[in-house]
Amino acid sequence: MKKIFPIIVVLITLSVVGILFIQMSWIKNAFKLKHEEFQREVETSMKQTKEAITNAFYVKFISDSHTVILDEATKQFYLKNNFIVEGSFSKEEIHDIIEKILRQNNIKDSFQFEVTNIFHNAVIQSDGFPNVDERSAFGIDLAPEDALRSHEWLFLSISEDKSAIIREMLWMIIASVVFTSIIVLAFAVTVRTLFNQKKISEIKSDFINNMTHELKTPLATISLAIDALTNEKVIHDADKIKIYSSMIKEENKRMNKQVEKILQAARLEKEEIRLNLVKLDAHQVINKVADNLALQVQEKNGTLTLHLKAPNPVIEADEVHFSNIIFNLLDNAMKYSDKTPHIEVETLSSGGVISIKVKDNGIGMSKETQSRIFEKFYRAHTGNIHNVKGFGLGLSYVKAIVEAHNGKIKVESTPGKGSTFTILLPATGK
Ligand code: ADP
Repeated sequence: MKKIFPIIVVLITLSVVGILFIQMSWIKNAFKLKHEEFQREVETSMKQTKEAITNAFYVKFISDSHTVILDEATKQFYLKNNFIVEGSFSKEEIHDIIEKILRQNNIKDSFQFEVTNIFHNAVIQSDGFPNVDERSAFGIDLAPEDALRSHEWLFLSISEDKSAIIREMLWMIIASVVFTSIIVLAFAVTVRTLFNQKKISEIKSDFINNMTHELKTPLATISLAIDALTNEKVIHDADKIKIYSSMIKEENKRMNKQVEKILQAARLEKEEIRLNLVKLDAHQVINKVADNLALQVQEKNGTLTLHLKAPNPVIEADEVHFSNIIFNLLDNAMKYSDKTPHIEVETLSSGGVISIKVKDNGIGMSKETQSRIFEKFYRAHTGNIHNVKGFGLGLSYVKAIVEAHNGKIKVESTPGKGSTFTILLPATGK
């Protein structure tokens, strides 16, 4: 099943190339046919020219000197004995005969001609004929059947107007280019859509796996704690009951957090960020979030240091969303660390902007990861730190909220050393 997609892509690519090839050979053939048709027309014109010259000779030299009308046999006899172009026709006369026939046959191109005698010497020649490539000239023996005097040849060279053929076929070429482009474009869009669909379906199944895992673990712990609570030995031990019920509470909180994260993302999807903007002391919120996380930091023997230096830290923000983004950044700073976490939060203000920096000494990120972390569902491989849970939704939420507050978020990071996230928000003053 997985291989069908590349096979289809290859087959369609081959078909498009095949159609292009067939179209090109059709156009080439059409050119060839047009050229052959032209040559046939010229050959017919040559035969008609020969007849016209013979008739002109007859009118000029024979019929004029006879008062009686000659029968066909006598006419042919005279022609056989007397027909000769050299000395009988001027260059202009031959030119006019050829021109008349060509125009009659709808050939409007310019032409050059030459009449040669039995020794192949030119006896009449148009001015441009010496420049003509003789191999491209059409030739015809002008002599009447069994002629005695002449064996003269007429050579005619016509500069075929290829651009006229192209003009005639232009609509066909344009139509085939347009239709082929449409097919190629539609194909490219289809392939891109298919790739995107594939990516989305991978992301979805990753997400479902993650979510199941995230919710299963607290559920299992709660189930175990409840089993323990109903145990005879525990039921009378107040201390143990306290331990197990606080465990249940903790796990419940954890699950709530996960569900809240998913809901946050769903709200973003529906573009339902409704901000309840109030004037907030950013330092107060940061302090509160830091207090909530203090226990977790202690458990890991880490430190969370605050350098809240912004002199006037008042912002106009939504308290819940603003606390969430600070929490997400601090939570990540702790999660993505393979050593004792030392996290620093620093605030500064300048030029009406408050900057909040969250710096950690964690695993850091490559440039590629940094460029993608704000995408929804994106999660980098965390190498040798296992058990880091998440949905890849946290930072996309942070970015959306920061932007909804007309702010900006940046990240700087060095793999193995740590990361610094900086949020810039407009300060509102007192
Ligand atoms: P989650 O933490 O649920 O995976 P996030 O959107 O919060 O989702 O983060 C996306 C990814 O960015 C994480 O999977 C991780 O690879 C990377 N990341 C985020 N914060 C940090 C950090 N402080 N240090 C290193 N990597 C981080």
